[in-house]
Amino acid sequence: MSSLLVDDIGELVTNDPPGDEGGPLGIRRDAALLVEEGRVAWIGPSRDAPAADRRLDAGGAAVLPGFVDSHAHLVFAGDRAAEFAARMAGQPYTGGGIRTTVGATRAASDDELRATVRRLRGEAMRQGTTTMEIKSGYGLTIADEARSLAIAAEVSEETTFLGAHVVPAEYADRPDDYVGLVCGPMLAAAAPHARWIDVFCERGAFDVDHARAILACGQAVGLGVRVHANQLGPGPGVQLGVELGAASVDHCTHLTDADVDALASARYDCMCADGRHTTTVATLLPGAEFSTRSPYPDARRLLDAGVTVALATDCNPGSSYTSSMPFCVALAVREMRMTPAEAVWAATAGGARALRRDDVGVLRPGARADLMILDAPSHLHLAYRPGVPLIRQVLRNGVPQ
Ligand SMILES: [Zn+2]
Repeated sequence: MSSLLVDDIGELVTNDPPGDEGGPLGIRRDAALLVEEGRVAWIGPSRDAPAADRRLDAGGAAVLPGFVDSHAHLVFAGDRAAEFAARMAGQPYTGGGIRTTVGATRAASDDELRATVRRLRGEAMRQGTTTMEIKSGYGLTIADEARSLAIAAEVSEETTFLGAHVVPAEYADRPDDYVGLVCGPMLAAAAPHARWIDVFCERGAFDVDHARAILACGQAVGLGVRVHANQLGPGPGVQLGVELGAASVDHCTHLTDADVDALASARYDCMCADGRHTTTVATLLPGAEFSTRSPYPDARRLLDAGVTVALATDCNPGSSYTSSMPFCVALAVREMRMTPAEAVWAATAGGARALRRDDVGVLRPGARADLMILDAPSHLHLAYRPGVPLIRQVLRNGVPQ
């Protein structure tokens, strides 16, 4: 059995409190971490480090769990740079541009789609993302949704069927028929390649009755539930997600007190050290507000109410064409008044919660050896030095990428 010792770690973020300093990040100083068979086998002070076959010297830098990006749309063709430019010149974002990408995606070959997915997945990996959820949602036919998910599943085990992204143009005047297609043959073709089902519950996309019907169909065949909710305005999406026990409701930009209460009060008992968690994570996607020049979600209100918050990129060609979790951390700190520790936790452990995973987003014995070594002495630098390539090395399953 081959072992690897990551040694001389100046600051090790474990997300496994209590660390030497306590706090949600479970920070340890002057630490070492032993990897065996792709998993963390031991964590402790550098001076007590066991022997290993190989050694990787962190040189006193910070080591963190890899980012867990729990919301990304990577299977598409074309780009919408001109739409972005128009928006920056004053046009509002409505979500209508999704249909532009649907047309380009349907016309693309499998290999073109595969190349885009792999390019973006690699780009994210170089920025520290070791787990990345990938949605379909730009095919919107039985064959195009199924192939989108099959291609996504080649690079991620966290795949999400989003046939209910928008109603495609050919069904514009008969949305009930489209919902029937999504719940019937499209779901049947998609489900073998998907772990999750998602719906864009928003004015102009799917109303609450359609969204509930679609999510219930997905649950009935064993898919977990996620919801795009309350992005463009207030609405029923967040409370629908809580009602259905969704792992995550995503965007959460326009929330009422009742929405926050619903998120804060639905809890389940957990075996981990924290004891009890909120059932439904609020996943905030500040790249979307940045790229649509919209007001950011109120992260403080959620955190102060005790809601579990995750950060993700929403990487997509229309409203947030970034694959960078460090950028989202910086936005969350600067624009959403999250502390650097809260933002780093939300981008790692929070994303893992949003995917109901306890083996990633955390560094403790038994967890996957998914981690990044920074070109910096502290996690603080991720927000303190925005736009700077600070990720020196990424390990996934203990393997340098
Ligand atoms: Zn999205």
